[in-house]
Amino acid sequence: QLDLIGFTKRFDGTPVVSGMDLSVASGEMIALLGPSGCGKSTTLFAICGIHRIDEGRLMFGERDVSGLPSQRRNVGVVFQNYALYPHMSVFDNIAFPLKVQKADKDQIRRRVGEMAELVHIETLLDRRPAQLSGGQQQRVALARALVRNPDVLLLDEPLANLDAKLRLEMRSEIRRIQQETGLTAILVTHDQVEAMSMCDRIALMNNGRIVQIDGPTRMYRDPMDKFVASFLGNPP
Ligand code: ATP
Ligand code: MG
Repeated sequence: QLDLIGFTKRFDGTPVVSGMDLSVASGEMIALLGPSGCGKSTTLFAICGIHRIDEGRLMFGERDVSGLPSQRRNVGVVFQNYALYPHMSVFDNIAFPLKVQKADKDQIRRRVGEMAELVHIETLLDRRPAQLSGGQQQRVALARALVRNPDVLLLDEPLANLDAKLRLEMRSEIRRIQQETGLTAILVTHDQVEAMSMCDRIALMNNGRIVQIDGPTRMYRDPMDKFVASFLGNPP
């Protein structure tokens, strides 16, 4: 369970997210959907600790993590460009968060093995990221994000760099992995089809606020207003 309560973020005094409330149930995958510049990434960065929370609170379960630096929040993050370490093998990329934590060697080997199996890259562990396809790189980034068994998985436009065919494949792969692990997850996207096909609920944002939050079918059938209807491609 994740709760963002009254979250506000300003840059140079201008609010880009204003008093946002968002609750994500344990094991739920929710989409933050909306047009470019509406504040999706800003919200995600505040949850993972890259941005300070100017106003409001962030709770992981009963724990208030608002003031904690990112290393002390147990979050897994996948960005659009995957941000893999180019000079490290796939194994070492996935193992990295555990090494930082000073986990012992046996535990690291076992855990990386489990993650490789989960995302189906068992045969690629000795390669460098440059020797992988885009889809394979994304699987590595997912494995690395999951290796510490995070409280929440955050995905910022994870499919944007993939070609159309891989994008379809990885949509269902990410959903499968999220459901198999039972993780609480937030997917940032500006693609309504992606949000509808991958997530339990959608939070549709505009100008730094959530306009409507609902299940995909419900939102498509009963849009709150013209903005929602036209954004979902279902104008009245
Ligand atoms: P996109 O779909 O294009 O990625 P987004 O919804 O993720 O858009 P954000 O990156 O959250 O949008 O940005 C929201 C607003 O905040 C934008 O107007 C952006 O210009 C502004 N902004 C983001 N980061 C900063 C920053 N570090 N300094 C100043 N303004 C910023
Ligand atoms: Mg963004």
